[in-house]
Amino acid sequence: MENVCQSCGMLMSQNDYGKNADGSINKEYCKFCFFDGKFGKEETMEEMIESCIPFWLNDGDCKTEDDARNKMLKIFPDLKRWKK
Ligand SMILES: [Zn+2]
Repeated sequence: MENVCQSCGMLMSQNDYGKNADGSINKEYCKFCFFDGKFGKEETMEEMIESCIPFWLNDGDCKTEDDARNKMLKIFPDLKRWKK
């Protein structure tokens, strides 16, 4: 299975993993979301989606903001951080 950040849905390669408080690698979250053992920012799923839109547009796959938002709304509720 592909390794996707359980907070922002980003596909992670070796260098993208987050870090735990003791400096060890955390493979569940990317380095942008999770470092020093905590999330860089406490936010809601909706806020995360809004801040991720530019990156998803850059990806080429999504043509409009609505495209990107709808795609994330499908993926995010299944990610560990947002799962209720
Ligand atoms: Zn992330």
